[in-house]
Amino acid sequence: MADQPATLYCANHPDRETMLRCNRCDKPICYQCAVLTEVGYRCRECVNAQRARYYNAAPLDLPLAAAVALILGALVGALAYAILGAIGWFGFLIAFMAGPAAGGAIAEVIRRAVGRRRAPGMKWTAAIMCLAGVLLGGLLLVGAPALAGGLPPAMLLRVLPRLLFRLDVLLLAGLAASTVYARLL
Ligand SMILES: [Zn+2]
Ligand SMILES: [Zn+2]
Repeated sequence: MADQPATLYCANHPDRETMLRCNRCDKPICYQCAVLTEVGYRCRECVNAQRARYYNAAPLDLPLAAAVALILGALVGALAYAILGAIGWFGFLIAFMAGPAAGGAIAEVIRRAVGRRRAPGMKWTAAIMCLAGVLLGGLLLVGAPALAGGLPPAMLLRVLPRLLFRLDVLLLAGLAASTVYARLL
């Protein structure tokens, strides 16, 4: 029974001896063909099949997640720029509490919008779009009235960085975006 195991040859490289097998399909694989996963060595075919099953998103899920993150981020941004500045240092306290809460809510809306499906890159796409949304919200909040009030666009561009660079809002945006990243798969 327990005699010397027969020599194995890699399924993709018939000239290479190996002692490894894919632990899912049992195919002999050489070190170059093996992929080390959390559950041991697997062949590329098994890893790709697993990945395809895990990432089950429809083609429009990723753009949808990005759009939701941008729009809700803009809403949060407009609110943050409008409210936080008016309440002084207390704004930082609000930002600390509201940032993760806003991020959690945005992540939940995204998860429902995409039917809880998973797409590669969805978490960082949503997080970046959430950050961009906050700035967009601030831009609309301070930029639109200024332009409507007759401020020349060139002048607006000069003062805009100073208006948008607010540590309390950026803290809130960073906390919201990192919560979105952490909550999504
Ligand atoms: Zn395999
Ligand atoms: Zn091989």
